Amino acid sequence: MSVYSAGGTSRYITESVNRFDQKNEFFKRARWDSSLKDEAERFYGTVCPRDKQGYKLKDLALRDAAWYIEDAFGHGCRIHNQGMLSWETLSKEQRCIPADLRLDTTDAKATSQDVKRVAILFGASLVGITELNRTWIYSHTYDALTHEHKEFDLPGEYRYAIVLAFQMDYNLVRTSPTWLAQATEGVEYSRMPFTTSMLAQFIRNLGYKAIPSANDTAISIPLAVDAGLGELGRNGLLITKKFGPRVRIAKVFTNLHLKPDNPIEFGAMQFCSICKKCADNCPRQAISSGERSTKPHNISNAENQLKWPVNAERCFSFWSNNEGSCMNCVRSCPFNKPHGRIHDSVRWLIARTRLLDSTFVKIDDLLRYDRKVLSDYWAGE
Ligand code: SF4
Ligand code: SF4
Repeated sequence: MSVYSAGGTSRYITESVNRFDQKNEFFKRARWDSSLKDEAERFYGTVCPRDKQGYKLKDLALRDAAWYIEDAFGHGCRIHNQGMLSWETLSKEQRCIPADLRLDTTDAKATSQDVKRVAILFGASLVGITELNRTWIYSHTYDALTHEHKEFDLPGEYRYAIVLAFQMDYNLVRTSPTWLAQATEGVEYSRMPFTTSMLAQFIRNLGYKAIPSANDTAISIPLAVDAGLGELGRNGLLITKKFGPRVRIAKVFTNLHLKPDNPIEFGAMQFCSICKKCADNCPRQAISSGERSTKPHNISNAENQLKWPVNAERCFSFWSNNEGSCMNCVRSCPFNKPHGRIHDSVRWLIARTRLLDSTFVKIDDLLRYDRKVLSDYWAGE
């Protein structure tokens, strides 16, 4: 159970939570669960272009190119401590800074500001810090390539998680579930090893330890909630104040003494109890339109958490059929909208009163913000 804040993840933890086995995370499960064999083969297998806007050769080429850095050098969707996400610092020959130098960091607030400034310079859109709640570290790891499954822990000296959110392109997300939408997802997954490895190296250069991490090592969303980046939504995703769920999350673990941020609340979780747009726009009814529940759908849901559990089996069956991912539950979320006077005013009101929630949902419906919009990304088509 979170002991690090009054808000944050303690808002939805009901009892003590067992650490989650990475083998049961759905993308790992699809690699070993024989009941998912056909769907997994379609999802992970060769994909051919279709004669349909958003699914043509250029769309597919863009999507796969966007994932290139993650697939070739990052491996953060596969397993920890590989490629650019290595836990090792550069060798003595590769560094110009003497190894025995160490920055005096008695002012944790100033150090945290420096770290955040560097994270933004290196490509993060949002940065928060939390004292690491070890509940969110995987109990076991599962290598999607070698199928190696083993007990896991992170050394206790890594007391802090710097959590980074990367915003995805609004117009491309609006094309979900096409392959065009997946290009912006791939870009941000490729940005993760780039940004987190450089941030980790910056911290190592100050004389401290740091581990860069994408989807590996620990569950990102609760860490992001505790680090003050947002709230947990009905769609099972982090809802940030600035970009809604239109983000991807990575983190850096460190022993550098930092000042944790407070979790934030801006009405998102309450708004979700009225708004069901993600559930309505899900092609497989994988998102609950009822009340929050502690009851898991299957082994891919964590237990003892009062939230809207997403049925990953249904979700994946659509992804398989689509031969690619889907972001309808991001696209349709009213918090997804870009910065602007009207949208910012609505966000401001949602943070202060519950009285207008259903009106805002109706206006959003009326203006069809949730609909799929196929952008003219490729001019001339
Ligand atoms: S990704 Fe698509 S299929 Fe999966 S839960 Fe979201 S809307 Fe449903
Ligand atoms: S679409 Fe509505 S219900 Fe779903 S996460 Fe967004 S605000 Fe919550």
